[in-house]
Amino acid sequence: MSDRREIEIPRTVRIKSGALDRIGIYLQRVHADEVAVLHSEGLPPELLNRLQRSLQDGSIRTAHQIAVPDCAVETADGIVASLEQQPTAALWLLGLGGGKALDVAKYVATRIHRPVFVAPTSLSNDGFASPQSSMTVAGRRRSLSGNMPNGVIVDTDVCLAAPKVLWLSGVGDLVSKLTAVRDWKLAFHAVGEYVDDFAALLSDASVFQFMGRPVRDVEGVRLLATALMLNGIAMSVCGSSRPASGSEHLISHALDATSPRPRLHGLQVGVATYVVSQLMEAGTDEIRHLFDATGFWEAIAEDPFSRSEWETAIRMAPRVKSDFYTTLSQTDHTVALLRIIDTDPVLAACFTD
Ligand SMILES: [Zn+2]
Repeated sequence: MSDRREIEIPRTVRIKSGALDRIGIYLQRVHADEVAVLHSEGLPPELLNRLQRSLQDGSIRTAHQIAVPDCAVETADGIVASLEQQPTAALWLLGLGGGKALDVAKYVATRIHRPVFVAPTSLSNDGFASPQSSMTVAGRRRSLSGNMPNGVIVDTDVCLAAPKVLWLSGVGDLVSKLTAVRDWKLAFHAVGEYVDDFAALLSDASVFQFMGRPVRDVEGVRLLATALMLNGIAMSVCGSSRPASGSEHLISHALDATSPRPRLHGLQVGVATYVVSQLMEAGTDEIRHLFDATGFWEAIAEDPFSRSEWETAIRMAPRVKSDFYTTLSQTDHTVALLRIIDTDPVLAACFTD
């Protein structure tokens, strides 16, 4: 067996100001003729108008334009069926908007075996450039594997204009790579899980590059987008979500499953990362400083979490995924984690009841 591998990565990557206005040109360069645009429902019409002008500039025909209301697999299968009614052999998919539209675009592209460009309009998580789609199946959230997008187009001005809380969610999801990689290495020592060195390195490096300049401006958006994208590629390198997701994600998944009002993915994951890092005794100060610098804590304090919901989620977290060894698998850490939540001075403003 060769010890080298082939990996899927996006062939077109543009992370810059005005990229939205050039999508048509980028599609022309890869010899696309027609696209099905899948965009978030409620996307500002101005962004759709800019996309349409851009597609005209590149002489790209819009065969379909579909507003994506949710990330239910049932909705996505309906889109698959409608696209399959007409010949799709020349069709490209283009996802524009928040995470849900991009997840659906990737899923549909995989199902109909067509290439896809994704163009996030905010950076709330690392899903836009990953080989997975986060969907709901019969109302339950699932991660479905699929193809990597063929192109990732991030207009930094557009993402900067998105609400700050979405940016903070992206920061929270990015920083979770620190505990995720630790959990992965722990799984190697505990149960012999294979750790892909390159994927782990890429994941770690992407976080530190952003931490060196955690500013919400065009350059900061570029750094965050790049880091989140490289994390998606790390997942493609090793063929699993390990470099991007560990015990902190288990707590967030448990909150999604049990909380009456789950918050943004990266806000849940970011706080869980900070809590778990204390259990691991690694990286806590760096995470706290990053959250101080970006205003992450203030955003959480504006709409604090429920301590009782977190208690439920922490109890459930070790059982969320089978065959997924993390620091939570070692022993019951519920008491220790709740003690951290109850005594950490920064977290006092982040929780109620
Ligand atoms: Zn995540």
